[in-house]
Amino acid sequence: MESVASRLESILSELPSGVRLAAVSKFHPVDRLMEAYRAGQRIFAENRPQELAAKVPQMPSDTEWHFIGHLQTNKLKLVLPYVSLVQSVDSLHLLQAIEAWGAANGRTVRVLLEQHIASEETKQGFSGPEILDILRDAASYPHIRFRGLMGMASLTDDVEQIEEEFSWIAGLKAAVNENLPELKDFTELSIGMSHDWRIALGFGATIVRIGTAIFGPREY
Ligand SMILES: *Cc1c(COP(=O)(O)O)cnc(C)c1O
Repeated sequence: MESVASRLESILSELPSGVRLAAVSKFHPVDRLMEAYRAGQRIFAENRPQELAAKVPQMPSDTEWHFIGHLQTNKLKLVLPYVSLVQSVDSLHLLQAIEAWGAANGRTVRVLLEQHIASEETKQGFSGPEILDILRDAASYPHIRFRGLMGMASLTDDVEQIEEEFSWIAGLKAAVNENLPELKDFTELSIGMSHDWRIALGFGATIVRIGTAIFGPREY
């Protein structure tokens, strides 16, 4: 089997400059993460608060963490102190709780809003109009920096469907940039996972979130 380092290097060699790789390390033990770290990887993404909080002290201090899972408001303190980006803000309730946490702790939290683009009902996220409403009201969240959008396409082999879903989220980002130019930091588009990251590059991905193609299958 190929090593973590060689799989990582082959993905990095295909990423255009300006596209960042978030190595999705959920369910993998820290020694696997360290293989990626030693190969130069610095951004790791986790989707469970407890697991993130447990891994943070075991990894070198220049590791950068992103959160990509459904975040319950009673778990903020396990996540927000450690992450440079919450990619998966999927409800107004969560957004308001993050704002309150930022105000109470004197911190500004960088977030992506998650758009629901997949056909599966199980996936989280806002509709496009909901995202526009939130962003028009961005000044109400002084402790939140809106950095862009995140989306997960349907889990399918149908390339045209994935392309259509990525085109929706790319279109929404373009609409935000055009209509709300005051949101100067709204630059990130986090799309693309192990099975569809090459497609995502064609739709302007600035962050790809790749787990299985680096670390192999997860053990649930
Ligand atoms: C698990 C996960 C990924 C990575 O999935 P792979 O198919 O293993 O690359 C990406 N994004 C989110 C939100 C995830 O939960």
